[in-house]
Amino acid sequence: MGPASAKKDVLLAMIRAGVNICRLNFSHGKAQDHKAVIDTIREINEQYKTNVGILADLQGPKIRIGLVKDGGIHLVNGTRINITTHECIGSEDGIYITYETFPQDVQPDEIILLDDGKIQMRVIETNRQDTVVCEVVHGGILTSRKGVNLPNTKVSIPSLTEEDLENLKYALEWDVDWIGLSFVRTGQDILDLKRIISESGKAAKVIAKVEKPEAIDNIDAIIAATDGVMVARGDLGVEMPLEEVPLLQKMIARKCREASKPVIVATQMLESMITTPRPTRAEVNDVANSVLDGADAVMLSGETSVGEFPVIVIETMAKIVRNVEELGYPFNMDKSSKKGPTSPDYLIDAVCGSAVYLAEHTNAAGIVSMTSSGYTAFEISSYRPKAGTYIFTANKHLLNALSLLWGVKTFYYDKLESTDQTISDVNNILKDANLVQAGDVVINTAAIPIRNQGKTNMLKVAIIE
Ligand code: PEP
Repeated sequence: MGPASAKKDVLLAMIRAGVNICRLNFSHGKAQDHKAVIDTIREINEQYKTNVGILADLQGPKIRIGLVKDGGIHLVNGTRINITTHECIGSEDGIYITYETFPQDVQPDEIILLDDGKIQMRVIETNRQDTVVCEVVHGGILTSRKGVNLPNTKVSIPSLTEEDLENLKYALEWDVDWIGLSFVRTGQDILDLKRIISESGKAAKVIAKVEKPEAIDNIDAIIAATDGVMVARGDLGVEMPLEEVPLLQKMIARKCREASKPVIVATQMLESMITTPRPTRAEVNDVANSVLDGADAVMLSGETSVGEFPVIVIETMAKIVRNVEELGYPFNMDKSSKKGPTSPDYLIDAVCGSAVYLAEHTNAAGIVSMTSSGYTAFEISSYRPKAGTYIFTANKHLLNALSLLWGVKTFYYDKLESTDQTISDVNNILKDANLVQAGDVVINTAAIPIRNQGKTNMLKVAIIE
């Protein structure tokens, strides 16, 4: 989201064209601007009975340079420049960095990348107090507030900065569905964020943005700790060798599906559409291949936040996704679950896997599940069933949050009279919504006794009357 997509009529057209989740990027804009967008999304959800989710994306320990003189600084290959922790207006002699312990953390010969890697410097020496002398390796024009990436440096900034904590407070107050954390390094970063969310009494789920080499080293622990992952290819492609990103994307998507955690593929998906109404052929391939890699969601940034064609971009992306899923998608994918018989989820996973198997073998039109925690939705979606995945819940927090999951459609349902009544009700709701027809097979799952709202333990093969 951004200025190009914040107006209600534009956003409504985007949602009608296929948007499921809106990301608010807290690296840009003021908190109140984000609140206005949240209000618009909720107004649309209310008025048009949509379930669009909201992802508040926290900046994390992003490092930037300060302001520089008008017109920028011309950095010439082979010249030296000081990086200082004292605030100043940058010039060819020195620039300010927003990272107080940089001179203590950095080592000679480490690489410093500026402006998404367009400018590269090498550390010559540090006085370990306030100044680091660097040599320009690949120069260019450097303008104010550009991002800094330090692929080789062990950065000691906490995973949640003061600014993140402030923004998190707002995001939780506004009851967003998902909180994204940038520059995650360890599973503990996610657990720390989850503790704050839980202490606030809120239900927001967490997305770990994977964009650092340390996150790749700790990917299993991060996936275990988080509710979902974003392959944040923008910074990942600066912090890691660019050529490694395609296989990293495939590896992360595979591990996420195995762990039943949704994965978002992000950045430059339809970049050329910021200024032109048709994408490049390579971009179309990238979106399609990300779907084939197992993405739950494909994300747009500049294309819809500041681009000239926000609605056409969504229409284009939806067409690409739909075409792959109609013609070439490997539905009903198997999973090699790592959970053994002693896992508390072993039985529920077996029921969900069996629901997908049954749906495939009965050519079912839908898998229809009741859930109070959302677990069943995560699990069933991870098998990528060909049958529609229809999730009924009395937990209002889940209605929009689950829109991030591949193929999931949610409905509110809060009656707990009897299993027979519930199954009959939910199947009728789907029939009334024209999602299933008389004679269709559906697979119902539930937790019985229904009043206890326990774990999924029942399967039924039903024929719609
Ligand atoms: C990215 O780096 O790819 C990304 C999604 O992060 P952001 O857009 O927040 O910089």
